[in-house]
Amino acid sequence: MNKEKDFDELVTLKKRDLSRGEKILSKIMLFFEDLFKVPLFKCHHCGECILSHTGFVCSQRCPKRLRNGPCGGTRANGHCEVYPERKCVWYMAFQRARRLRRTSLLHRIEKIHNWELEKTSAWLNVWTKQIEPPTFIIRSDDDHDIKKQD
Ligand code: SF4
Repeated sequence: MNKEKDFDELVTLKKRDLSRGEKILSKIMLFFEDLFKVPLFKCHHCGECILSHTGFVCSQRCPKRLRNGPCGGTRANGHCEVYPERKCVWYMAFQRARRLRRTSLLHRIEKIHNWELEKTSAWLNVWTKQIEPPTFIIRSDDDHDIKKQD
């Protein structure tokens, strides 16, 4: 087993420091990204977007900022254990992913968040290959036939 390779697969390492120009560009791009992603998805600017894997529900709205959820504390009514008045973000992600037939993407193990990418532009980070691109099209969803249990 190659431990270094396993570690690389679990963590998004910052590949290099951004130049001054790239930092300015990141701020500009984040401004435009926010115009679109904050109202639509309540984006929390993690810089390492996994929206396309979570039914287009931002996982970073979870008070624990889980990227591989849910935590196990979800209440029987699908609400959050931290904020009982709110629905669990991962419950919402599952419901949305099921409607969109994308639940198989919820089985992916998402990388440990690199906090150095926080408040940077995810679009730029994809462009500069710091993070993986989003998955928009999936050929088949193994779980699409999960029966509706509501
Ligand atoms: S960039 Fe991060 S915080 Fe923003 S929508 Fe994507 S996953 Fe959520």
